[in-house]
Amino acid sequence: MTLEINDTKDMLRAVQHICGSFPDDYWSRLDADGAYPQEFVDELTRAGWLSILIPEEYGGGGLGMTEASLILEEINKSGANAAACHAQMYVMGTLLRHGSATQRSHWLPKIAAGETRLQAFAVTEPDAGSDTTRISTTARRDGSSWVLSGQKTFISRVEQSDLMLVLARTRPYDAGRRSHGLSVFLVDIAGARGTLHWTKIPLMFNHHSYTVYFDDVRLPEEALVGQQDNGFRYILDGMNAERILVASEAIGDGRYFIGRAAEYASQRETFGKTLASNQGVSFPLAHAYASVEAASLARNQAAEAFDRGESPGSHANIAKLLASEASGEAARAAVRAVGGMAFSVEFGMERKLREAQLLEIAPVSNNLVLSYLAHNVLHLPRSF
Ligand SMILES: Cc1cc2nc3c(=O)[nH]c(=O)nc-3n(C[C@H](O)[C@H](O)[C@H](O)COP(=O)(O)OP(=O)(O)OC[C@H]3O[C@@H](n4cnc5c(N)ncnc54)[C@H](O)[C@@H]3O)c2cc1C
Repeated sequence: MTLEINDTKDMLRAVQHICGSFPDDYWSRLDADGAYPQEFVDELTRAGWLSILIPEEYGGGGLGMTEASLILEEINKSGANAAACHAQMYVMGTLLRHGSATQRSHWLPKIAAGETRLQAFAVTEPDAGSDTTRISTTARRDGSSWVLSGQKTFISRVEQSDLMLVLARTRPYDAGRRSHGLSVFLVDIAGARGTLHWTKIPLMFNHHSYTVYFDDVRLPEEALVGQQDNGFRYILDGMNAERILVASEAIGDGRYFIGRAAEYASQRETFGKTLASNQGVSFPLAHAYASVEAASLARNQAAEAFDRGESPGSHANIAKLLASEASGEAARAAVRAVGGMAFSVEFGMERKLREAQLLEIAPVSNNLVLSYLAHNVLHLPRSF
């Protein structure tokens, strides 16, 4: 960890410098091979950028959500994909806020030093996506151990992690108290060898997601994070950070699409003038720019609220919704501005088009965000 920054501009210049060493052809090569961007992640880890949210007392950068969000935005704006490593930034928040003193002092310095990777967060199951409370993976007590059984799916970066946070049922489902009886466990992946298995899910873009099988994985008593049965609250708590950071990636994607399309459209000529001199080309890009800027303001508001220690639920959800929609608008405007070249692998944009779509659905779909706002902010009835 070599983090030394004086202000935000220095920080962004340093991140840009790293991103600049991993140009488009690096990402295209990985995309073709389905390979993980290990060198890129190693560089960010070495420089300390992935541990900036860990307090200084544990060896982290001790910075806030505002800085973290700008870093992820910058990564995606450069053409890279922060999804390869973003969880390292926020998954540890569950441990930081709800873990025991022993868990914090044992793991956080190792994560901050880049020795231990906490990149995997296992909630989704084949029969429980948006409706988290219907998960059926269980953890039962057996003497002083916990025994974890079940199956998770779409769990990203399991193979690139040393630790995985897992949400499991510690009490049978009760329709009257749906979110009660769920608990969070910190699984040491190497320690679970033999009973923990996974298979990679082939996807339309280069993302490392797995179906994970827990075949009576035996965990020590101290693997439980926080209080038994209260895990749903801890997960929700971490989701605000996740939404703000994912919004930042979408803002970065939007800026990438607009920047790349504006550059191309300023150079290519049709009918004796540049593409960009046609308002039919420039106005959609300008409109998308306004949408991305609006999303950025909402994201800043959410990040600042988070850093003040407020509960930024509505701001974080608004930022995630607006940013993923703005990125989609920018992608459509960019394809129309660039034309056929947008589809060529060599140009690079088609890879980003595939990657950016995810953010409307995961980690939470925009319909569920709207449901949150309708129910929790406008106090309208919920459909479920
Ligand atoms: C590439 C990728 C990586 C992922 N990584 C992880 C990970 O690391 N860890 C993890 O736990 N999960 C992960 N996920 C899972 C992700 O969080 C879920 O896909 C997401 O929460 C949506 O769940 P679902 O896909 O089961 O959709 P479903 O719940 O089946 O819903 C399908 C669609 O229906 C809509 N819908 C559902 N219910 C309602 C409703 N009540 N009202 C209106 N609309 C509704 C939603 O908009 C949704 O788009 C990942 C997914 C992908 C694709």
